[in-house]
Amino acid sequence: METIMEKPKLINAIAVFNYINDKAKFYNDKWNRARKMETIDKHFETYKMYRDFSYRASELIFSLRRNEKFGDGRQWFEMDGKRFKEFRAEIKKERRLKFEQNYRVHLHFMSESLRADYGTFNCDNCKREFYHSPSTVFKGSEKKHSNCCGHCVNNMMNWNKQDEVYY
Ligand SMILES: [Zn+2]
Repeated sequence: METIMEKPKLINAIAVFNYINDKAKFYNDKWNRARKMETIDKHFETYKMYRDFSYRASELIFSLRRNEKFGDGRQWFEMDGKRFKEFRAEIKKERRLKFEQNYRVHLHFMSESLRADYGTFNCDNCKREFYHSPSTVFKGSEKKHSNCCGHCVNNMMNWNKQDEVYY
């Protein structure tokens, strides 16, 4: 009786496993095709996440199969709609986290060159005078600076393991 009840779970688990693997492959391809550093990172992160889920899903299938054989009882979570939603929520959470930890920099003028001359500005971080384009700096959704110099921006990016903006 229990074997019959376990069946749909196993089928569900396999369907989810296949879905996740398709996703992993999809993002792996995207990662391989990506040209920009930012997209490369983004796709690789997503790929890694799906690869991790795929590993967990295959563990689940293994345990369900074993239960089917030996009737170990319900020691593993159910791979149903709820669990799948949790998977997706986890991806979103990771993305959100990454968003909140990363700087976003908006230049006031076109050029990222430190040698550009757009006038005289005062950095609202280091207080120094500079002539290149100031930036507005966000960390996640929080505005950190509205008139930041390129040296400060590059330092922040370096500390946070992001690519420099000014050259
Ligand atoms: Zn500065």
